[in-house]
Amino acid sequence: MAALFFLISRDPHYGSDRAVSATIRAMTQHSLQNHIAKLRLRLRQSAEKYDRSESDILLLAVSKTRPARDIREAYACGLQHFGESYLQEACNKMDELADLPVTWHFIGPIQSNKTRAIAERFQWVHSVDREKIARRLNEHRPSQRPPLDVCLQVNTSGESSKSGIAVDELPRLAAAVDALPMLRLRGLMAIPAASDKVAEQHAAFAHLRAIFESLQERYPQMDTLSMGMSGDMDAAIAEGSTLLRIGTAIFGPREG
Ligand SMILES: *Cc1c(COP(=O)(O)O)cnc(C)c1O
Repeated sequence: MAALFFLISRDPHYGSDRAVSATIRAMTQHSLQNHIAKLRLRLRQSAEKYDRSESDILLLAVSKTRPARDIREAYACGLQHFGESYLQEACNKMDELADLPVTWHFIGPIQSNKTRAIAERFQWVHSVDREKIARRLNEHRPSQRPPLDVCLQVNTSGESSKSGIAVDELPRLAAAVDALPMLRLRGLMAIPAASDKVAEQHAAFAHLRAIFESLQERYPQMDTLSMGMSGDMDAAIAEGSTLLRIGTAIFGPREG
């Protein structure tokens, strides 16, 4: 973008700074529109290929690190659900976008001193992986709001360094969350180790789906399988994802 600015600002057609920033905004809007149209097409094609209904797959736009104006433009292109990982950054953008009826999802790691703001400002949390965090979210959820929609983050790879609850501890956490009145147990989330081997992507998602289906027998209100990002969305759709968390394919590569 800096290079683009440089080029445009040297072009005699673009006189003022205002004209330059208006031009950059228009180009951003155009590429967002383009990305979202391509993504919708990919989603539709995958859904058809795997005999899924497109309307059963929610597109969550992961807007962490992106400025509020990009969210506004993505909203204008028809996206309504946005996912954030960093609380302070998210709150600033929420304030700026208070006029938009956006549904906010928290998808990042949760420190216990952040549970109040998360419970107050988000409608969904995908990254609950400890009972203590669940209890605090329940306690801080304002009573006049509907219960917070919760997915439990599962560590399917078994690496101890990764976030997410271990598979064998999941039933206990699910029971604890189910018993908390201000939380609504909606589903599971996982971030499998990144792999460009399609077979590995399928195996990780199939594993999560099997765990999901066995929990669903006990908790039939569970309807959300939050899996699939820009690099593995096709495999996720094949294995039953109901919610894709997509950043790069909408907003372009993140810096840093
Ligand atoms: C950043 C992030 C994503 C989006 O990743 P992309 O590869 O940019 O689509 C999805 N889920 C979580 C939990 C993330 O932190």
